[in-house]
Amino acid sequence: MPDNPAQKFLQMRGASREDAKFFWSGGPVEIAPRTWFVSRFSGITAFETDEGLVLVDSGLKIMAADLAATLRTVTKAPVHTAIFTQGHTDHAFGLEAFLMPGQPRPRIIAHRAMPARFERYARTAGYNAAINARQFGGTVRAANEDGYKTFGFPALPPDTLYDQRMDITVGGLSFQIHHCRGETDDHSWIYCPKRSVLCPGDLMIWAVPNAGNPQKVQRYPWDWAAGLRAMAAVAPASLCPGHGGPVVNDPALCRRILLETADFLEAIVTRTLAVMEQGAPPHVDIVQAVELPVSDSPWLQPVYDDAEFIIRTVIRYFGGWYSGRPGELKPAPRAALAGEIAALAGGAGALATRAEALVTAGDMRLACHLADFALEADPGNAAVQAAAARVYEARAESETALMVINIFNSAAAYAREGLPHTIVPEIGFRGTKARSPR
Ligand SMILES: [Zn+2]
Repeated sequence: MPDNPAQKFLQMRGASREDAKFFWSGGPVEIAPRTWFVSRFSGITAFETDEGLVLVDSGLKIMAADLAATLRTVTKAPVHTAIFTQGHTDHAFGLEAFLMPGQPRPRIIAHRAMPARFERYARTAGYNAAINARQFGGTVRAANEDGYKTFGFPALPPDTLYDQRMDITVGGLSFQIHHCRGETDDHSWIYCPKRSVLCPGDLMIWAVPNAGNPQKVQRYPWDWAAGLRAMAAVAPASLCPGHGGPVVNDPALCRRILLETADFLEAIVTRTLAVMEQGAPPHVDIVQAVELPVSDSPWLQPVYDDAEFIIRTVIRYFGGWYSGRPGELKPAPRAALAGEIAALAGGAGALATRAEALVTAGDMRLACHLADFALEADPGNAAVQAAAARVYEARAESETALMVINIFNSAAAYAREGLPHTIVPEIGFRGTKARSPR
């Protein structure tokens, strides 16, 4: 199986910010006087003031001790105020690790929509564990690993909620906190004018914006672009991103990153809406018709999310769930459809053989459709399992984005176990019911 690109966080230790991109780890980097950035998977920024720290984000729970220990090599100030840029598990779940022994509970600021996100997590913890296992694990076993079972409320949830904007002053240092729907509906960006430091959260991650993630709730690339322009307008000298390395005292680069990313998102939104306006074609046809912007800039490479998925995000928000393909309005069970296709093709084996021929010919998209039908039609067939797995392994090798590679790696791993991408009576979906792990 191709390597899980999550390994890149380790492989990129010590690499430059441009080479490591989304996968940069490092710090503490002094961003401005008494201001530091540290990143392990996701980044945190600490502003020391005379009253204590203003801490922006808190990392993944499993990374928080390391992040905090690194930060504590440069400052022992207690946390006065924490601000969560969004309610994702890599931003809002690590705060306890940063508290000094005996210090009072800090004020915790977040956007008003954040508690509703935690409620959704609590209601869909199983779903979120499964999709994150596919996105980050890419194996059959990952879905049972504890690292993915972290969805619910953080131990220290926000106690101070705001709507559009909140300004605070701590120890004489002021901060603007702005709401901007982007990767999430509860997203904030923070600016400290005196130190000219911008914390955009995941509105900037040294990668194609994570605006299209195929398994997750609605994202807002049009508001995101407007927020990036608002951030450029405050003219920060330094930028501490949600993922990737910091920009220190380089206002021209901050501006370029923010405005190029805004242009990139706006191009996809505008082009997608233009195709939707042409008589509402089926979703697949819209995806094929939109020309995606391409950039040489290291902060706009598709290493995490895939720009094609941003088209889907726009369709989902402005359109309905119906794919536009009449047969899919009230579809047959997928296994029944696969059985019909296989019978017409001369059996699941014939479909699998053709799928592998298409891989050889370089048509990965078509190959995967046939591999799906083959495995769904005859999931117990060892030759079909192996062929479908090889198709998805080849597909994963051909892709660049972490979440695409891992979803295809996961498909290959499940194919090898004879678990197709459809609910099968007796074994449930991919063996989640009544089947012990093999
Ligand atoms: Zn993040």
